[in-house]
Amino acid sequence: MNVTIGAAVFGSGAAPVISGPCSVEPDYVRHAQAAADAGADVLRGCVFKPRSGPDRFQGMGLEAIPLLDEARARTGLPILSEPLDSADVEALIGHVDAFLIGARSMRNARLLQAVGAAGLPVVLKRSFAATYDEWLGSADYIRAEGNPNVILCERGIRTFITETRNTLDIAAVPVLRTKTELPVIIDPSHAAGRRDWVLPLALAGVAVGADGLVVESHPVPDESWTDCDQAIDSAALRHLIETVKAMRVVS
Ligand code: PEP
Ligand code: MN
Repeated sequence: MNVTIGAAVFGSGAAPVISGPCSVEPDYVRHAQAAADAGADVLRGCVFKPRSGPDRFQGMGLEAIPLLDEARARTGLPILSEPLDSADVEALIGHVDAFLIGARSMRNARLLQAVGAAGLPVVLKRSFAATYDEWLGSADYIRAEGNPNVILCERGIRTFITETRNTLDIAAVPVLRTKTELPVIIDPSHAAGRRDWVLPLALAGVAVGADGLVVESHPVPDESWTDCDQAIDSAALRHLIETVKAMRVVS
């Protein structure tokens, strides 16, 4: 089954790349343009950030929505953004092309119903402690609202390994092929937690047949307001995208 976000088709044999900074910052339009120039197919445009504590930057919020409009107009690329509750879903409609449900929200049934009812494609991340069937149960909440356009995103799970931020469960791709028709993509950034491990994990994902990638990028990674350790720069993003395309041609 294919799910499209703008012109990007997930599930067709290609591996479109969703990229951009972890969070929308005041210079977002330049960041989005850099990701577009590097070859990204869909932009990350997260204005609400679920953080591990309330004392950390929580995203620019509603005031950043005009930046999404400008980035979309300038690059011509579709944008995906993460709502944290149903009010955010309403606020984002008309300004984004798809919703991202973060790992922390995978079990929020009301939010899943809200994005289901909104009708836009949904990238559904796996909770760091969800079985495949629990993850698919969350996808069913979205589909039960009449929205079939769900893309599953493996972003790493919690294990005894502490070197990486999360443990990328690469088996998710072949295993889910036996359980669902939905496209499955990989987020190597939140799995790695460190920028030099993003490329190998991304390529591993493509090698096992992932239908796409979500990669955090920033023109000056160390200046990212959130998740700076795992952001890759524009040259690294271009290299990653070119390598993914070359792998898809030969596979
Ligand atoms: C994110 O995509 O920036 C994010 C918060 O990821 P996750 O929900 O996978 O932790
Ligand atoms: Mn992030």
